[in-house]
Amino acid sequence: MNDLQFILDTAAEKRPVIDRMTQTIWDYAEPDYGEYQSCDYLVSVLEQEGFTVEKGVGGIPTAFAARYGHGHPVIGITAEYDSLPGLSQERGNPVRSPLPGHTHGHGCGHNVLGSGAVGAAILARHWLEESGTEGTIVCYGTPAEENGFGKTFMLKAGCFRELDACFTWHPRPYNASPAYCHVGYLVAKFTFSGVSAHAAASPEKGRSALDACELMNVGVNYLREHVIDKARMHYAYLDAGGQAPNVVQSHTVLLYYLRAPKIAYSKYLLERVSDIARGAALMTGTQVQIEQVGGMSDYIPNPVMCRTLSDAYLATGAPDFDEEDYRIARRFVEALPPEQKAEVLKSGAAANGVSEEEFAAKPLITSIIPFDPAQQNTILTGSTDFGDVSYAVPCAQLNATTCIPGTSMHTWQHTAMVGTSIGNKAAFAAAKGIAYGCVKVFRQPELCAEARKQLLAVTHGEYESPIPDGILPGEGITL
Ligand SMILES: [Zn+2]
Repeated sequence: MNDLQFILDTAAEKRPVIDRMTQTIWDYAEPDYGEYQSCDYLVSVLEQEGFTVEKGVGGIPTAFAARYGHGHPVIGITAEYDSLPGLSQERGNPVRSPLPGHTHGHGCGHNVLGSGAVGAAILARHWLEESGTEGTIVCYGTPAEENGFGKTFMLKAGCFRELDACFTWHPRPYNASPAYCHVGYLVAKFTFSGVSAHAAASPEKGRSALDACELMNVGVNYLREHVIDKARMHYAYLDAGGQAPNVVQSHTVLLYYLRAPKIAYSKYLLERVSDIARGAALMTGTQVQIEQVGGMSDYIPNPVMCRTLSDAYLATGAPDFDEEDYRIARRFVEALPPEQKAEVLKSGAAANGVSEEEFAAKPLITSIIPFDPAQQNTILTGSTDFGDVSYAVPCAQLNATTCIPGTSMHTWQHTAMVGTSIGNKAAFAAAKGIAYGCVKVFRQPELCAEARKQLLAVTHGEYESPIPDGILPGEGITL
């Protein structure tokens, strides 16, 4: 059989199913760990396609594992379907218009991520049946990527360990199956306890927890000069003590994110920042309690699997945008300030190898950036909980165009674009690319051993979950 033709033909047949998933999950737009409708819906689609579905895996009610086939290789595909608060927006509208009665929106495009990933699992499963090849597809439904460390918890609970390789994808303004790394981060809470007092009548009796926070943050700001360039330290006040300036505040809480190219460096940062917190407590006569409450490991792209997925994507092709998609995209370009518009047209024209006038008429990137081993030197400063999976299993992910160039993830503009036919085309392209990538691994199972060897050369088999024992999914922090 012609494997590529089989995937393309089956994809054409399943296209309405994938489109429906893209739009239905966009409508649901549920929060981290609250993705009940999205989860149930995807599970029902997978069951209809002959998968055996286990719900609530990893102790998370909105997670699932859907299996088809038998024996090795066992290939995982992870599907996300969580959305973000404050990013509700009308479909296709380039003017800010949240949907009445809605707060959450798919600003990171996880509606298309979920439908493309489930679509890929369905196509690969039909190929397994048709070809009679040995192998298993496991489609993992992975909730709460945004702020809940869903996959990190699932890995801790034993998920993904059965896999020989794992694929996923993410919406972007471009197409690729790149070997870019992502930074990891740890989350820690610093709770200061002091003594309250009348700030005017008897300040000498007070020990200010608010002073401790401020001294700690000043200390960390001085630390910034003495850490590696790619380190990022962000903080927020979860509790500033109170609203009355004439009270010495006795209780405050700071939340810190400590990002670095390797999770081991985040741990080092946590030690340094904890020392500063203890110093601040000493200076103010307060007590500090330090709790690590979550985190995600850095993402390790696997060169063998990235190349395989990239070759597959180059064969199945970028999203097949039509005039309706370009009409929607042009409205978003027109809504940009002149300088940004000029930049979008310049970078898009360069990516597609066309003139700026031509790109202005069709402002979506349709070229595919091929895999290049040098991509591993690029470290993206965003994080993903797929990073933890990448410590356990050789991983690769692809990107498909879901928006005009320059669009940031986590914006209402992205919510608006991924709810249109542009999102449908991206999910469809990702489904085909990942499915054909799976077929390539099923055809050459020796790739898995080679990929595993590469992974072990990087990790030496060492992995420590960034989530301490005793914290349950949805606890710690959920924003
Ligand atoms: Zn995302």
